[in-house]
Amino acid sequence: MGLDYDDQNIFARILRGEIPNDTVAENEHALAFRDIAPKSPSHVLVIPKGKYVSFDDFAANAPVEEIAGFMRLCAEVIAKEGVGLDGGRGFRAITNAGPDGVQEVPHFHLHIMGGRMMGPMVSLRD
Ligand code: AMP
Repeated sequence: MGLDYDDQNIFARILRGEIPNDTVAENEHALAFRDIAPKSPSHVLVIPKGKYVSFDDFAANAPVEEIAGFMRLCAEVIAKEGVGLDGGRGFRAITNAGPDGVQEVPHFHLHIMGGRMMGPMVSLRD
């Protein structure tokens, strides 16, 4: 593993079953669940089951089978939510990292958001 990982972060607690989640899909390497404060009609978080702080930590340090399992679960979520380009209207997938990325939960997660026009890519405020 790469960066220092806080075992008490909320997604670690979800993975241990200590707090509930609204699961959308799951496989050996990853879990997908609905964001508790959705910013779009469909707003799903996909997280690896391994202890990775951020996207760069996961990309650099996860074994390839974990990366593949994570990506395949993303594809499953996109299909299940009906936002893929084979019939759906599309989606936005984003990940926040660190202070400048305004990351709240220090366990890598991808936001998959759709069901409405997502607007400009970034809207900055101080
Ligand atoms: P980020 O700023 O990228 O770290 O986003 C963290 C996301 O986690 C936010 O969109 C929160 O609404 C979401 N979140 C926080 N706690 C929970 C929870 N218990 N279940 C589901 N989503 C959560």
